[in-house]
Amino acid sequence: METPKNEEKITKKHYGIKIILVGDTNVGKTQIIRRYVDKTFDDIYVSTIGYDLKPVNIELEDKIFKLSIYDTVGQEKFRSIIRGYFKNSACAIIVFDITNEQSFESVKQWFEECKSLGSKDIHMVLVGNKIDLEDKRKVSEEEGNKLADELGINYFETSAKAGKNIETIFNEIYESINKI
Ligand code: GDP
Ligand code: MG
Repeated sequence: METPKNEEKITKKHYGIKIILVGDTNVGKTQIIRRYVDKTFDDIYVSTIGYDLKPVNIELEDKIFKLSIYDTVGQEKFRSIIRGYFKNSACAIIVFDITNEQSFESVKQWFEECKSLGSKDIHMVLVGNKIDLEDKRKVSEEEGNKLADELGINYFETSAKAGKNIETIFNEIYESINKI
């Protein structure tokens, strides 16, 4: 006998996840979100003071992830991002630009900021963006991996421009949520 459609829906587990993006200005945070959101669902754009919120629903087999992806709006200086940005955040994506050493050096401070202002058990990932600019690379993949190991988080290299590995970041997040 066929299962009614609405009964299928009821068995799906719903997960609400708040994801924040941090990192120096110009590393590609906004483009990473744009690339990810535009590819999957409609991007409802809610502009607020200090950050933008992009709500996205992702359906995977028996689960529905309701994502709230928060993007900073020109406030990427330590201590300048309002506390509310970090509040109840389940995940933080720390982004640096592989062609910009300074942005890599800032990673540790962003990590500490998330630890101190984010949720107690906040899940973090490190992202080295702009790998399409390989000839301008200043931070090697090894360095990225080494730092991520030190911090005890995963490392991904991406290109928002080429659409490379962007989905991988979010899939890792879903997997980590799945384990809870
Ligand atoms: P944000 O300040 O961290 O939000 O950075 P944006 O997303 O605004 O990007 C800053 C600049 O870097 C813009 O000019 C983007 O077009 C560019 N950019 C972002 N991601 C990439 C990428 O993967 N490759 C290249 N070549 N440029 C990128
Ligand atoms: Mg931005």
